[in-house]
Amino acid sequence: MTALTHQDWIGKAAAIRFRDQAFIDGKFVPARSGRRFASINPATGETLAEVASCGEEDIDLAVAAARRSFEAGAWSRAAPAHRKAVLLRLAELLRENLHELALLESLDMGKLVNDAVAVDVPGSAGIFQWYAEAIDKVYDEVAPTGEGDLVIIRREALGVVGAVVPWNFPLDMATWKCAPALAAGNSVVLKPAEQSPFSALRLAELAMEAGLPAGVLNVVPGLGETAGQALGRHRDVDCLAFTGSTAVGKMFLQYSGQSNMKQVWLETGGKSPNLVFADCADLDAAADMAAFGIFFNQGEVCSANSRLLAHRDVKDALVEKLVARAALTQPGDPLDPASKMGAMVDAHHTSRVMRFIEAGKKSARLVTGGEQVTVNGRGSFVQPTIFDNVSPEDTLARDEIFGPVLSVITFDDEDEAIRMANDSIYGLAASVWTDSLSRAHRVAGRLRAGTVSVNTVDALSPMTPFGGIKQSGFGRDLSLHAFDKYTALKTTWIKY
Ligand code: NAP
Ligand code: MG
Repeated sequence: MTALTHQDWIGKAAAIRFRDQAFIDGKFVPARSGRRFASINPATGETLAEVASCGEEDIDLAVAAARRSFEAGAWSRAAPAHRKAVLLRLAELLRENLHELALLESLDMGKLVNDAVAVDVPGSAGIFQWYAEAIDKVYDEVAPTGEGDLVIIRREALGVVGAVVPWNFPLDMATWKCAPALAAGNSVVLKPAEQSPFSALRLAELAMEAGLPAGVLNVVPGLGETAGQALGRHRDVDCLAFTGSTAVGKMFLQYSGQSNMKQVWLETGGKSPNLVFADCADLDAAADMAAFGIFFNQGEVCSANSRLLAHRDVKDALVEKLVARAALTQPGDPLDPASKMGAMVDAHHTSRVMRFIEAGKKSARLVTGGEQVTVNGRGSFVQPTIFDNVSPEDTLARDEIFGPVLSVITFDDEDEAIRMANDSIYGLAASVWTDSLSRAHRVAGRLRAGTVSVNTVDALSPMTPFGGIKQSGFGRDLSLHAFDKYTALKTTWIKY
């Protein structure tokens, strides 16, 4: 496939069709109330479409459709080999619609269309494929009770899974929940973030085309306080899988306790440390990956390496290399394949990021960036920004900024580095750069995080569990372990 030019993308953007209604029971429908909300392209400020804003009654309809489809059994009781075939076809359809889906992601939330082509859409297709291929290879258990009893332990689908996801990787976050939940035989009601509803709606349509029965995947765009809350409080939802902020994650725990005690799984915030020791063998590679770890996707990444903990002997050299990389990562039109960084998701989030930056200018040393900018005179963009001499007590070192803002902290020895790395309410990811095998294992073992990457950052694959500890949440996405969230163990005891 030849790569598309900037002009090609502009042409495709002009012709694109947005699905702007809810997808319930296999059909696009307006919100019962008739309410709509605007979905805006943050790179231009233009409204892309007015989208159905679902409320409690729409959530009721979607959950009822999901329950009916689950009870009917066309999906939930289908042979795993059948579910596999449908989900493999869906993976294929995602690849066939690569450009459209990539464009929807880019227009909706400002990411580089090239990144969506290279990362988001193939990533999503790969995950559907991975779970499709897994589902007819997972065996159940027989307990070793001895003669006279046969005890079968099976994993059963839970029923109706609610999924509430954020805007930073709209299609991927939807996929991380939907692929294992659907593969296991559940029916799903998915609420995308209000900033980025389009790819989820298209996903549901493609899933039907692939052969998913009506009602098995429903998408309810809307606001968090209304649609999200209604799903979280719904008494007929068995499980709620959430990715988003820690504050909203805590609300889902309350919704559950105040309603039907549904299972809740949370993937929430992070403030991931990246530790560079003086024995790091390749400081250029460390700088490349540290820059990637905080500037990729405008820093709107839950596992972004937002704290760079550098040994005093290498810190200055590392910062110098990072400044050079920041200079090459300036924001540009997300539809231009030459651009290196896209737009922030919206004006509101941009103001929040800029408040952190303005405060940082007083408490630390700004070495590069620090300004909000426009591209072609419009949109919400933030320069790649690096602060040096950040105190571990500073907000810059403690709060999740969710933007392209790196805080550099200096350490003198390994114990101090580990102590500072772990001094956070979060525990999602961490990275370590060292040429010493002993140090790599020792430090990785002591870092309190769901994933530790050594001599790289943000290592991740469908094969490996992803998620956090502490206030980064609990439960794991990806890998076979994700089935733990979407299934319950059933013991059947037979006396003979
Ligand atoms: P957010 O504000 O928590 O929103 C996430 C989702 O929750 C959205 O669909 C949102 O709907 C909904 N929501 C908001 N308020 C709600 C409420 N009162 N009741 C029910 N639902 C509600 O997070 P965000 O700003 O979109 O995303 C950024 C956050 O996500 C960051 O903290 C980031 O670390 C986290 N994240 C974590 C991971 C991970 O795997 N750990 C991955 C990606 C992102 P609206 O869109 O309508 O507000
Ligand atoms: Mg948008």
